[in-house]
Amino acid sequence: MKATQLYAPTLRESPAEAELISHKLMFRAGFIRKAAGGIYSYLPLGWRTMKKIMQIIREEMDSAGGQEIMMPIVQPAEIWQESGRWAVYGPEMMRLKDRHGREFALGPTHEEMITTLIRDEVKSYKQLPLLLYQIQNKYRDERRPRFGLMRSREFVMKDLYSFDKDVDGMNISYQKMYDAYDRIFKRCGLKFRPVEADNGAIGGGHSHEFTALASSGESSIAYCENCDFAASDEKAELKIIKSAPEELKPLEKVQTPACHTIELVKNFLNVPIEKTIKAVAFMDDDERLILAFVRGDHDVNEIKVMNCVEGANHLYMAEEKLINAAGSCAGFMSPIGISDAIIIVDATVMEMYNAVAGANEIDAHFINVTPKRDFNAEKIIVADIRMVQEGDPCPKCGKPLKMTRGIEVGQVFTLGKKYSEALNAKFLDEDGKERFFEMGCYGIGVGRTMAAAIEQNNDADGIIWNKNIAPFEVVVVPVNAKDDKQLAYAEEIYNELAKSGVDVLLDDRKERAGVKFKDCDLIGYPLRVTISPKTLESGNVEVKIRRSGEFMNFARAEVVKNILELLKTL
Ligand code: ATP
Ligand code: MG
Repeated sequence: MKATQLYAPTLRESPAEAELISHKLMFRAGFIRKAAGGIYSYLPLGWRTMKKIMQIIREEMDSAGGQEIMMPIVQPAEIWQESGRWAVYGPEMMRLKDRHGREFALGPTHEEMITTLIRDEVKSYKQLPLLLYQIQNKYRDERRPRFGLMRSREFVMKDLYSFDKDVDGMNISYQKMYDAYDRIFKRCGLKFRPVEADNGAIGGGHSHEFTALASSGESSIAYCENCDFAASDEKAELKIIKSAPEELKPLEKVQTPACHTIELVKNFLNVPIEKTIKAVAFMDDDERLILAFVRGDHDVNEIKVMNCVEGANHLYMAEEKLINAAGSCAGFMSPIGISDAIIIVDATVMEMYNAVAGANEIDAHFINVTPKRDFNAEKIIVADIRMVQEGDPCPKCGKPLKMTRGIEVGQVFTLGKKYSEALNAKFLDEDGKERFFEMGCYGIGVGRTMAAAIEQNNDADGIIWNKNIAPFEVVVVPVNAKDDKQLAYAEEIYNELAKSGVDVLLDDRKERAGVKFKDCDLIGYPLRVTISPKTLESGNVEVKIRRSGEFMNFARAEVVKNILELLKTL
């Protein structure tokens, strides 16, 4: 391809609202343009990289036994009503009506669509396993669409769904996808970790998130340097921390004027924070009050709390009137003497002795609280509900955990029979008995993968692509394209490279050399071949490696061979 025929508008300034470097650079390098909040057009360079990522995904999905299909974006409400998710999906789902008033959604995901497709078609265990995927736009009306392609409202996703006859089969499909994801993100050149994840709204069995490590990432992950443990902070299952046993003192109520935070009460009573019990009050859609208690120095993990409450799909901060109606007051809550609430106590709290907790009345706390003695065991749920923190003991090996941030680029789930049961999708097994499919689902955000690659690979001058996903692998730049000799020389090398299968661009624009070099660095082609008057004189061709900034000189006859070798290393 020649640059004079390429639509690649580069810019000096980034959009005012862009916070992330990937967003700024994709805009400046002419990869994307915004149409509305979270909705983008991809320009030729951006789409080339997207297509390369999609090609890698296709190859790996196909080699893992996947078959590509294409399902509708516009999905009838009925299938979502049947699964029960029309009501629970909430405002993130983009809904519309046709001219007859019938309701539809723009697909945020496709479990309903594929399950209803399969249930009417696949009748026998002999047709299983079946792994079907598509690469398509998804729609989610995200609360805060920000960060360019990282969290958009319309985005390209690869989603594969597996159908198996039993749990063993499902686990094999899961492992195939896990391994394929590992290969995909390696081929994209990402630094990533598969981390144990919560299943979120999709529900079901086990799950991993493939997380690209980046300080700008929205996910927080806990990992162990000593063993292979890695989990999202939402999921990390934690060990109970035991306190040293103490002689039990009698429970006592004390006045704590205006001490409605842990910080205030600990200072007022002069106790270490690990000796305090903190409360967080939630409510669900049915306005049930849910009180969660953790040690003062710990934080409540909302997802773990929600998983303890049957039938809860969302949690909100509780309204004060609910807390008061249950016989307590905000800032002074405890499980002692409260009745009308679902009370969930972190397992570590149950190991405390002589601690401080609210007295369920304004300006008062209990001291010498020993949960095992003072909490009514029949009225509380004891569970691991705290948020992981740096230094927590690794649940696998006990060594202190580290925390890092990352970008979820893909996720694999086992769904079990969740959707096949809800949507009545059955097949006949070997014994002629009807059974529900065992399913799995597996997503990759294509645009988010491109953005994550930029987050990990950039410098002050621009993007630094891995050659597998670069819009072009090599750019050939005659410094002065008005000079016919230079241009002809460059064209010759360009043709040879193209013939050898290199994805190459000839920058034949009649711009100043400085402008072209700046663009090359901004766009981030892995290799730049420069043709200058010196090249014509000496017969030596200069090659610049974008990542290291290194320059090399190759004899004319060796250029193509050496570039092919160099590309293998990038
Ligand atoms: P998140 O937690 O970041 O909102 P999710 O867990 O809801 O994502 P999945 O349903 O697992 O997302 O979707 C599969 C993949 O699609 C994600 O791993 C991510 O790469 C991508 N993705 C999800 N939401 C968006 C979005 N709003 N913009 C761009 N990519 C997205
Ligand atoms: Mg996810």
